[in-house]
Amino acid sequence: MTRTVTEPADGGKSATIDSDVAIVGGGLAGSLAAAMLARAGHRVALVDKRAVHPDEFRVEKIGGHQLELVRKLGFLDALEDVACRYDRVLNIREGKVVDVSVGRAYGFPYADLVAMARRQIGDPTSLIVDEVIAIGNCDDVQHLELASGRRVTARLVVLATGMAGGLGYKLGIRRRVLAERHSVSFGFTIARKDGTAFDFEALTCYGERTADGIDYLSLFPVRAGMRANLFMFRDPTDPIMRELRREPEATVLRLLPGLRSYLGDFRVTDRVQNWVMDLTIVEGHLQPGIVLIGDAFQTNCPAAGTGVARLLVDVDRLCTEYVPQWLMTAGMGLDKISQFYADRDKIAADQQSLKMARFRQALTSRNDIGWDVRRRLHFLRRSLAHRVDQMHPGWLGRVRGALRA
Ligand SMILES: Cc1cc2nc3c(=O)[nH]c(=O)nc-3n(C[C@H](O)[C@H](O)[C@H](O)COP(=O)(O)OP(=O)(O)OC[C@H]3O[C@@H](n4cnc5c(N)ncnc54)[C@H](O)[C@@H]3O)c2cc1C
Repeated sequence: MTRTVTEPADGGKSATIDSDVAIVGGGLAGSLAAAMLARAGHRVALVDKRAVHPDEFRVEKIGGHQLELVRKLGFLDALEDVACRYDRVLNIREGKVVDVSVGRAYGFPYADLVAMARRQIGDPTSLIVDEVIAIGNCDDVQHLELASGRRVTARLVVLATGMAGGLGYKLGIRRRVLAERHSVSFGFTIARKDGTAFDFEALTCYGERTADGIDYLSLFPVRAGMRANLFMFRDPTDPIMRELRREPEATVLRLLPGLRSYLGDFRVTDRVQNWVMDLTIVEGHLQPGIVLIGDAFQTNCPAAGTGVARLLVDVDRLCTEYVPQWLMTAGMGLDKISQFYADRDKIAADQQSLKMARFRQALTSRNDIGWDVRRRLHFLRRSLAHRVDQMHPGWLGRVRGALRA
């Protein structure tokens, strides 16, 4: 269903677009929400500054529980069209195999994932390429002011603006920093110098020394080659950051010497991108007529790999449970909006994300006796389970299943 556009005499510059739901931000969260709501027959206006999402380093792989959510929301076939599938990840530490993870996963550039999500909206005119510069919100109808002079009205505004905080700030929504410069991530693509394929489908190499602050390097296939995501907990001003940008091959092997025999002679084939992440959560967000989803509500530690799970839970709960109910009756006051923030699944996903962020940091870099023992046990448990599984395939799975029953 399309939204209504009222064209004035100035050639559209001050047109007003009427919709049921206006979504600000067409990254993964906003675009998937727009697709879900449009599919359910609601009039949706999705506003993003850019027609095409730029080549920015964000999530580049999805697997496990996240895939189940993608399937539940009905986007799995579309994901398969843009991503590279892989099923086995060889996990190593200090050059030795820890275990092998078996399970479907996909690698992709983030921009392709966002493009895929936007294609699911159906009606291409639902995407308005413009910048939202102001929001007027109340219990009834919300008003968006766009940089071009156009306006959008909606019963509900979904803020999916990612880490950009300016718009929320004007509404009194603040970001509380839980951990400043919590993690540093690097993304780049590698290939063997002789052009041959690597001997593994995907590989994770864990850090060897707490002082290095390396959680893990994850290698997985994307269409352009073998993608590398390096996740660290280390001061972003440390000279090692510059070395990783300037001489990624030599620096990676210096930090993770056990990788050498698995990679052979390799080179980085594209620009090294890096990102310093603060862990933040918003305050002052409970307002009539507006909900925040995805990174706009809470940021995530990339090493924990929980950003997509969180945003998929947000999209699922908001678009399948709450918005259809809210639109059936007049008003969009706090009684409705607060239901979303009190949702059990949403709260659990948000808390799990913070818990995993703290766990990964401690497992990587805490060097007190308690965490040293915990780290050793963590890897010992995994490699023992792997050996048992090699000797008696399927036996451990059956025991775990019986214990769960
Ligand atoms: C380096 C890195 C690695 C990561 N790795 C993982 C991982 O392995 N696993 C995982 O699960 N998660 C990972 N994440 C987290 C994941 O990428 C994010 O949670 C997810 O991309 C957030 O999507 P979003 O739609 O909320 O925000 P975004 O994708 O940032 O989208 C926000 C959109 O809002 C638009 N916008 C902003 N302001 C305005 C405005 N005023 N008007 C119009 N448009 C506006 C922007 O143009 C943008 O398109 C990683 C994040 C980073 C930074």
